[in-house]
Amino acid sequence: MGLYYKSTRNSNLKVTASEAILKGLAPDGGLFVPSELPKLDVTMSDLKGKTYQEIAYLVMKQFLTDFTEEELKNCIDKAYDSKFDTEEIAPLVKVDDTYYMELFHGATIAFKDMALSILPHLMTTSAKKNDVKNEIVILTATSGDTGKAALAGFADVEGTRIIVFYPKNGVSKVQELQMVTQRGENVNVVAIHGNFDNAQSGVKAMFEDTELAEELAKKGYQFSSANSINIGRLVPQVVYYVNAYAKLLENEEIEDGEKINVVVPTGNFGNILAAYYAKQMGVPIDKLVCASNDNKVLFDFFQTGDYDRNREFILTTSPSMDILISSNLERLIYRISGDDDQKTKDMMEALKSAGKYTITEDMKERLADFAAGYATEEECAENIKKVYDKTGYVMDTHTSVASYVCGCYQKNSGDDKKCVIASTASPYKFVKSVMSAIDSKYADQDEFSLLSVLEETSGREMPQAIKDILNANILHDLECDADKMKDTVKNILEV
Ligand SMILES: *Cc1c(COP(=O)(O)O)cnc(C)c1O
Repeated sequence: MGLYYKSTRNSNLKVTASEAILKGLAPDGGLFVPSELPKLDVTMSDLKGKTYQEIAYLVMKQFLTDFTEEELKNCIDKAYDSKFDTEEIAPLVKVDDTYYMELFHGATIAFKDMALSILPHLMTTSAKKNDVKNEIVILTATSGDTGKAALAGFADVEGTRIIVFYPKNGVSKVQELQMVTQRGENVNVVAIHGNFDNAQSGVKAMFEDTELAEELAKKGYQFSSANSINIGRLVPQVVYYVNAYAKLLENEEIEDGEKINVVVPTGNFGNILAAYYAKQMGVPIDKLVCASNDNKVLFDFFQTGDYDRNREFILTTSPSMDILISSNLERLIYRISGDDDQKTKDMMEALKSAGKYTITEDMKERLADFAAGYATEEECAENIKKVYDKTGYVMDTHTSVASYVCGCYQKNSGDDKKCVIASTASPYKFVKSVMSAIDSKYADQDEFSLLSVLEETSGREMPQAIKDILNANILHDLECDADKMKDTVKNILEV
């Protein structure tokens, strides 16, 4: 049997790629993982000169083994088109001696577009393949960026509805406006009185609620997920790491086979896990550097082997990383445990009941691919200014966390391999924090008046996504308590 997907909490539960995409989360609460991590069937130098779309196909076909060539290419072509403001899709920008892989050239100017432009197509293709007649209801918890990218991706996609939950006071003004102005007959946006972890736990609880699933089925609905727990989010994210290496090679920035490091600003551990998968596929990546903000639960985990979410939740200027339960870490835990479903399940249950778990010494040894660091609010802001003053390059707060951690890692380790930093959002999305970092005189200014200041400062044209929200009407104002999410969903769907 070729590659299939199994649950991290039950290795005997086997499904195809398309079934895994439709379900999102495994019925036992585990995450779907590939039965083995596939290798590329081409060399890195074969990839020189190939387009993003061509590389996407060569990577994704190794994971989505029950999609035909035509189906997959069709999804890719619909996703990576003129919605992106550059044909390169994910351009590499060299600043000093570091490469910023800009993942924010899609419709909503955050890296979530890289996967959420294609997920709706993977989802509807999967529904057809599996003869699903129900309407698919996408439930999404967002720390700000996923919500808008998922709304934009699924808006008016036939056979789907989407409901997005975001923390009322936990996202930037631009992020909130992007969501509440979303058009589409099949979209709903709900602000919850709580933080991202509350939103994510509420959504996960609905996925695990079999009674609710039955009620929905009677009305012709079934849930799926657009969060990075869905393998259909993760697989498209592997592509840009392969693409980045191919472009470095093509541009003679590196020699064939030369190892590089990647630094990823991390929240739910999806993006960096995709980099890990790219490494397993054969991309010469040495260290995967996990960068955190003040919510440094992952940094502590990599230092000690203890994952402990019992700590204060800190609202930072990099809100998409304000997360204490990094869902995708479960996929890494499963892997470093030697695909031990029982051990993984025990640890995840401990996380749920006690808020913490400790991995074994054996497992710790298998974390050698990773390094970790974090940036405080002050360090993040100072780094934005420092890089701007030196080079003129303006980056957003999330990217700055990674950029700062990259510098620390290089200094502390003496490792001078070339570094690719995942640049996850446009500075326009966090204009207030970015401009105040560059000059404190902007701290009291209205967010919208700063957009044109940023345009002048960065020399980067204001993206269409920003122009759009300046004139758009507010279409969503629903709010609910964190423990009322289920009732809210039932009201919306009238079940
Ligand atoms: C989602 C997001 C992150 C975190 O990515 P994960 O895959 O959740 O680790 C970082 N930066 C930005 C701007 C994001 O939107």
